[in-house]
Amino acid sequence: MAKAIPQLIDGEWRESRAREFIEVTDPATQEVLALAPKATAEEIEAAIASAKAAFVTWREVPVSDRARVMLRYQHLLKEHHDELAEILAGETGKTLADAKGDVWRGIEVVEQACNIASLMMGETMENVARDIDTASWIQPLGVCVGITPFNFPAMIPLWMFPLAIAAGNTFILKPSEQDPLTPNRLTELFIEAGAPKGVLQVLHGAREVVDSLLTHPDIRAISFVGSVPVGQHIYRTGTAHLKRVQAFAGAKNHMVIMPDANTQQVLSNLVGASCGAAGQRCMAISVAVFVGESKQWIDELQAQMADLQPGYWTDGHAAFGPLISQQAKQRVLRLIAEGKAEGAQCLLDGSHCTVEGYPNGNWVGPTLFRGVTSKMGLYREEIFGPVLVCMEVDTLEEAIELVNASPYGNGTSIFTRSGGAARHYQHAVEVGQVGINVPVPVPLPFFSFTGWKGSFYGDLHAYGKQGVRFFTETKTVTSRWFDEDSVAGANMTIQLK
Ligand code: NAD
Repeated sequence: MAKAIPQLIDGEWRESRAREFIEVTDPATQEVLALAPKATAEEIEAAIASAKAAFVTWREVPVSDRARVMLRYQHLLKEHHDELAEILAGETGKTLADAKGDVWRGIEVVEQACNIASLMMGETMENVARDIDTASWIQPLGVCVGITPFNFPAMIPLWMFPLAIAAGNTFILKPSEQDPLTPNRLTELFIEAGAPKGVLQVLHGAREVVDSLLTHPDIRAISFVGSVPVGQHIYRTGTAHLKRVQAFAGAKNHMVIMPDANTQQVLSNLVGASCGAAGQRCMAISVAVFVGESKQWIDELQAQMADLQPGYWTDGHAAFGPLISQQAKQRVLRLIAEGKAEGAQCLLDGSHCTVEGYPNGNWVGPTLFRGVTSKMGLYREEIFGPVLVCMEVDTLEEAIELVNASPYGNGTSIFTRSGGAARHYQHAVEVGQVGINVPVPVPLPFFSFTGWKGSFYGDLHAYGKQGVRFFTETKTVTSRWFDEDSVAGANMTIQLK
């Protein structure tokens, strides 16, 4: 019988009193690895009360001491990098290489959090008026919440709580119920790094827990990453309850392929960017837009994709793992079937994929379509599987029109040898993260993760300077000192002639 995982409340790992639990399964075998509780109303209240009390003292801890917790944390994460990657691979099915990347990209954000002192410096100016100075101070908000998706159980929690806590806030993390083991281990290491009691709390569960947090008067800010419908619900409900909200949502990312591009670079990057992590990445390329004669390369693309074989995470030759759940697999199979019924040409169909030794895995093999139109569900819906659709246009302008008509705006890339085409694309495209001969242009943490349009609801993005601004507020102080208050009555008035 699988064991229930604990929650971190008021500095202690506590067994939940929940009556309902969610099974955490190995997606390649369906073995139940653990049970995630659905936090009770009392547990949610206890976590919020503890985070609120901890804020009173944590916000007064000098910034260098807060940064030192992050310095120890990044060191511990690096020491435990491989162990974390194995826990993560076990519960997500990601290949070990992908799992290591997930952990590493999170560590990079923690490295940025070590730099919190510079990131929280305000601005000053003297003599804004005669004898008057103004300074701005950057202060933490209070209790902040993070709600994270299944697909990056290390990186995305690490986008949120280290920066928020380094900035002086306290934090409640509600990880995905599908893979909560990695976030629990990340949290244990955070406590080991010296985080004081109450600064971080971890609650498990799904919709009900999130809804209690969204409406609670003691929560100041909510950072969410997940699907579009849930992102819209979080943004609407959180802001209606007067909270600051950033909600990163789903995507449909296009790669535009110009006929002058380097063919082999295009093909290998397209294969990796569409099928890597079984396509379960918000920055995966799911639409390839072939401009002019570049469409001749689709045959070779099909041959390269056909070579990809999914497998268990311990198999070093596996190109990618299973989908996270049986429901996720059924959804992808439905979209593939509907695409065929709508008249798209299916060049590769991964619906009947099997992996030897793992008959119960949520496998979907590489799938490739051409002849897809922008009216088809295959194009409109985020598939979140190893499925690539090819579209063909005559000019770069048509490609830009297609991409800009999409409701999403997370990422895009263009492959070309022409500086002029690349410059025009980066300027005209209405997408927040653009790669030029780079298929998955995720910015490193000194920049911010800047999705646009239907892929993001809010104003300030994740990590980098915007991440710090999201978790803080600015106070401006304008001051004037009168002569009669000055030391020993010295007359400091400057006589200007
Ligand atoms: P999801 O929206 O199902 O779940 C995300 C979180 O919301 C989980 O913690 C879940 O428990 C909670 N949740 C689910 N339903 C809810 C509801 N009705 N009310 C309140 N909370 C609810 O997303 P997922 O399937 O875990 O993750 C995949 C999605 O995340 C994809 O759409 C992907 O594009 C997106 N994503 C986006 C980014 C980005 O940066 N834009 C990054 C990673 C993933």
